[in-house]
Amino acid sequence: MRQFRSTLPGSVSLVPTMGMLHRGHLSLVYLAAEQTQSIIVSIYTNPTQLAKAEQDSYPSTLDVDVAALEHLNETLREKGRGQIRGVFAPTDEEMYPYLSSTDFAAGQGSYVSISPLAGRLEGADRPAHFIGVATVCLKLFNAVKPHKAYFGEKDFQQTVIIKRLIDDFLVDMELVVSETVREADGLALSSRNVYLGSRRRKIATVLWKALSAAAKVYYGGELRRSVILASCNQEARQEQDKQDQNKVGERARFEVVYFGLSNPKTIEDVEEVDPEEGALLSGAIQILPLETADQTEDLGWRGGRDSIRLIDSIVLKRIYNSP
Ligand code: AMP
Repeated sequence: MRQFRSTLPGSVSLVPTMGMLHRGHLSLVYLAAEQTQSIIVSIYTNPTQLAKAEQDSYPSTLDVDVAALEHLNETLREKGRGQIRGVFAPTDEEMYPYLSSTDFAAGQGSYVSISPLAGRLEGADRPAHFIGVATVCLKLFNAVKPHKAYFGEKDFQQTVIIKRLIDDFLVDMELVVSETVREADGLALSSRNVYLGSRRRKIATVLWKALSAAAKVYYGGELRRSVILASCNQEARQEQDKQDQNKVGERARFEVVYFGLSNPKTIEDVEEVDPEEGALLSGAIQILPLETADQTEDLGWRGGRDSIRLIDSIVLKRIYNSP
């Protein structure tokens, strides 16, 4: 990788992904191509950031992903933008030469731990998650040595952790955060959406609806956490009630993992938004397995038998004319 890197012309960017590429990933590449000449896309399903079940179920779609990148590269060439020069798809042995796969969960080895950031929100019930993210990103940054790396705002907390990683470990690189690409109904594009199947896909928008309702409350002038998050919870509860009243064979159910209102730099809970600073509004839901399935419907991954965790966030912008 380093040898290849040394042959690349101009400024170099890295777009780290775990594969199963969708338009959200491609938008990061597109932005990178506007700002740099040579792009490396990494495709690596990092075992240390995923729970065992997720590791086993994360499908590898490398050929399809590479074809999508080749297609995008043609558009970039026509437009005279930067070019994707390579796809970096290392193996577990290359990324973790001193770990056997059974060690991933046990936490043996060399890891980057960024606390207390990593223990909040997405890390609260998955303490190893951001340790895995920070560790693999530092490895990728050292392998590629890009001038810039591109990350999505959907995973806002991840971008804060990467920023801290860059600052704390003197990584000579700029972080660029790109806005979230959504489906027409608001659902943030995610590799996990294809797991849902049609019935659960319909209710997946509840997360975006709940966050949007709360954002509206904030922009209406409300700064209190309790009131802002109450509107998220109310929106979610309404959808839950609707599903509960539905027939078992027609409904899809979900649980709220959390709704959070946080300082966008420290990810600490805020009791009242500082209108000069704004805040991060974020949430995660767990879409539950279907209770009974009609075999003629599109059930999604493994016949709809797995829970699927979806996350999303909205950055509440600072308000200048606050009372
Ligand atoms: P992943 O493959 O899920 O690890 O995501 C790789 C990168 O793509 C991360 O920086 C994500 O934040 C970003 N990303 C994922 N979904 C979206 C989306 N809908 N819009 C923009 N960026 C995204």
